[in-house]
Amino acid sequence: MFKRVLIANRGEIALRIIRACRELGIEAVCVYSSADKGGPWLEQADRAICIGPGPSKESYLKIERIIAAAEVSHAEAIHPGYGFLSENAHFAEVCRASGFEFIGPSPEAMNALGDKVNCKRLARKTGTPVFPGTEDAIEDIEEAVKVAAEIQYPVIVKARAGGGGRGMRVARDEAELRTGIESARQEAAAAFGDGGVYVEKFLENARHFEVQTIGDKHGHAVHLYERDCSSQRRHQKLIEEAPAPGVDPKKRDRVCESAATLIREAKYSGAATVEFLMDRQQNFYMLEVNTRVQVEHPVTEMITGVDIVKTGIRVAAGEELPFTQKDIHINGHAIEVRINAEDPDRGFMPQAGLIETYAAPGGPGVRIDSHARAGYRIPPNYDSMIGKLIVHAPDRATCIERLKGALREFKIGPVKTTIPLHLKLLDHPDFRAGSHDIHYVERWLKEIAVTAKV
Ligand code: ADP
Repeated sequence: MFKRVLIANRGEIALRIIRACRELGIEAVCVYSSADKGGPWLEQADRAICIGPGPSKESYLKIERIIAAAEVSHAEAIHPGYGFLSENAHFAEVCRASGFEFIGPSPEAMNALGDKVNCKRLARKTGTPVFPGTEDAIEDIEEAVKVAAEIQYPVIVKARAGGGGRGMRVARDEAELRTGIESARQEAAAAFGDGGVYVEKFLENARHFEVQTIGDKHGHAVHLYERDCSSQRRHQKLIEEAPAPGVDPKKRDRVCESAATLIREAKYSGAATVEFLMDRQQNFYMLEVNTRVQVEHPVTEMITGVDIVKTGIRVAAGEELPFTQKDIHINGHAIEVRINAEDPDRGFMPQAGLIETYAAPGGPGVRIDSHARAGYRIPPNYDSMIGKLIVHAPDRATCIERLKGALREFKIGPVKTTIPLHLKLLDHPDFRAGSHDIHYVERWLKEIAVTAKV
């Protein structure tokens, strides 16, 4: 096992990794930007090294400074967390070339699954269900027009290097497809330096269903079942739960197993999430693979008892997975809500500034992954998530009630947070029935905006 790990991240995920390191007897070294000086998680690290000013480009994204910090602290491995450099194959490559173990997949496996076109190609081979659409990035618009006519409109044009919902265009007829391809190409070239786009069937009223998988360097890979993350606003997840409500167990097993096969075939080691959209008939279509640990990993930890972060570190150190597929069972239900410092009443405006009040909930089945506390000043430089509240209970109905109770106990001020919004969403009839889709939050936000004006 490693003696010392460098954490190339900040906030709650840095703290989560520090906790995992501590349990494994590993020293944790954190890097931080000057905007994060005094950040509460840094107190828990064995060592903290400033790598630059607030803007991420000058610190958390600056590869040479992170490598230098790993060198001076004599770390053996680097954990990228999520966001920042976590899905950057070049960074994984530089870590390897500099003699540090990257806690995550090899750059080869990351490229095989992180590039949407490559990934779709491999998925077709392994029997992981994909959207009908073009086989490859589009060279010829006429070919795309032909494919769209075959699979029927609506279709969606997507960037092969895509991320954050950019470079996507929905087309409901041929004219929209032609202009959509042009504008998606331009947007993708500007955003990702790669103008490659492809076309697939557009699904209305889908649910977001994602499978947690984990592999080791010895050719083993298992799935840890799924999460439903259909509560989204602008493609950002707000609420995540496991298992997905109301899914046929046989269909679930089939799609989860296909996800494990996909990452096994990619010779993938570490945690990966295979994202799908699910239609009303419970057909699945792969969206993409996230080649890192995800924000919402705790709900899976709660229902399976597997510590995903610790297991990720173990497999990076060369250990075999300590379990096989038959050891993994679903126990109860878990829901996570993201506590963002945003004002839902003012267009979700991010709220930087001092947290004066912070009173956290407790009780059975209540878990908080957060770096925030009273006296913490939220810097304006990074994303607005200040923590996650995760609740576990024997069944979904109890879980929702327990979560509502915990949200009522949770007092954070004067900065505004998404706590009041979550209380309303958890009472939304579609969410309660488990019949919600990926658009219900935005539909509901529009409705209440209209009512408020009356
Ligand atoms: P990104 O990597 O930019 O986040 P994704 O492929 O994950 O792109 O898609 C982002 C979101 O766009 C999905 O969560 C879903 O809401 C929507 N979307 C993408 N592809 C489709 C599709 N074929 N049909 C319907 N919605 C889609």
